[in-house]
Amino acid sequence: MHDVIIIGGGPTGSHTARRLAEKGWKVLVLEKKAEAGRKTCCTGIISRECIDTFEIDSRAILRELNSSVLFSPFGNTLHLHRKETQAVVLDRSAFDLSIAAQAQLTGAEYQFDSHVTDVSITSQHANITGLREGKYFQITSKAAVIASGFNPGLSERVGLGASKDYAAGAQAEVEAPSLEETEVYFGDMAPGFFSWLVPTSRGKARAGLLSRTEPGTRLNKWLQRLAEQGKIVSHDVKLSYGGIPLKPPHRTYSERLLAVGDSAGQVKPTTGGGIYYGLLGSEIAADILNRALADNDLSARRLASYERAWRRKLGRELRIGYWARKLFERMSERQIDRIFEIIKRSGIDEALLKAKDISFDWHSRTIMSLLKYQVISRTLKVINLPFKANDIDREQR
Ligand SMILES: Cc1cc2nc3c(=O)[nH]c(=O)nc-3n(C[C@H](O)[C@H](O)[C@H](O)COP(=O)(O)OP(=O)(O)OC[C@H]3O[C@@H](n4cnc5c(N)ncnc54)[C@H](O)[C@@H]3O)c2cc1C
Repeated sequence: MHDVIIIGGGPTGSHTARRLAEKGWKVLVLEKKAEAGRKTCCTGIISRECIDTFEIDSRAILRELNSSVLFSPFGNTLHLHRKETQAVVLDRSAFDLSIAAQAQLTGAEYQFDSHVTDVSITSQHANITGLREGKYFQITSKAAVIASGFNPGLSERVGLGASKDYAAGAQAEVEAPSLEETEVYFGDMAPGFFSWLVPTSRGKARAGLLSRTEPGTRLNKWLQRLAEQGKIVSHDVKLSYGGIPLKPPHRTYSERLLAVGDSAGQVKPTTGGGIYYGLLGSEIAADILNRALADNDLSARRLASYERAWRRKLGRELRIGYWARKLFERMSERQIDRIFEIIKRSGIDEALLKAKDISFDWHSRTIMSLLKYQVISRTLKVINLPFKANDIDREQR
């Protein structure tokens, strides 16, 4: 019998598998695709911090990024530039394959084309049911980890509940020969969210957007606009789609069961980036599960320490990020434009960059710094913050 079965061989499932296999546990990863990294809808931007923390294989990096231009709805721009590399764009397929390969090297077993349809928990086991080559199979383990990405169906079926809020993303690979830096657009193409054009390699770019509704229709329209402006060569391209949880599900553990990554809502609510937070969540999941297996205590009470630990690490970011996301969604295009003007005119962008307050991963700091400028909080009509000012000051030191 396997000690742990992991459902999903994306970055967080494979990272959890690797860490548990390193500790000597018998781990099986069930992945519904034929191979890790196939057909993934993701821009693949991660920070320097993520690369260093998780020693990401440099062969999966397509390009380094150190500057970006933000466009307001009415054409105001903010240019954010730093000498050092801030982030990189990954070849998502190569990245997923490399993490899966590391897990396999440490002894984790993978079964592909294996679509898990149900997980049931007894006092002795986790029973996994799935479909492979049109036939149902059943496997038993001591514990299971749900790492199946944005997949509310499975999380709900096992009683963890679905993510309480989510966005829909659409993306396309496009030809953009003269694109030098990342471009981010706010406005009617992605109301309440944003769209992006990110250079990858040799004249190519990823163009995408997030939205609450009709991401495909919106992206097609925006691509047409970009083609008319000469920013991309053709707009007749294949789109891919993905959901992004903006809030964690009700619970991310139960007896013999943990959820990690997108399945646990470990995603930045501001941008939808989930790779780094998901890997951080996986690291914690593997550590808690390792100790719980060693003590032969896989009770819900024991595994609750997983949720406490990952929320200690990410909870504040998720809370403030989600609050900022809702605030942003309520802003009119005029207000967004006005904030651009204020930031530019008062040199707030330069001040934040110099103070190193803009972190690619930890957005609460930037949000708090911006709100400390009264001209901004007044424009946004922010009177009461849902967190204590003292906490903010402590964080800033
Ligand atoms: C348009 C878009 C752009 C994005 N851009 C970025 C970005 O630039 N940077 C960033 O950090 N994040 C980005 N994200 C988010 C990022 O893709 C996710 O946070 C990340 O992939 C989460 O990893 P995961 O391992 O939790 O889930 P996934 O990567 O989704 O992996 C889940 C795996 O589980 C498998 N699976 C699902 N259901 C089952 C089942 N029932 N049985 C067996 N296997 C199953 C899937 O096939 C998949 O391989 C983006 C998302 C979208 C939609």
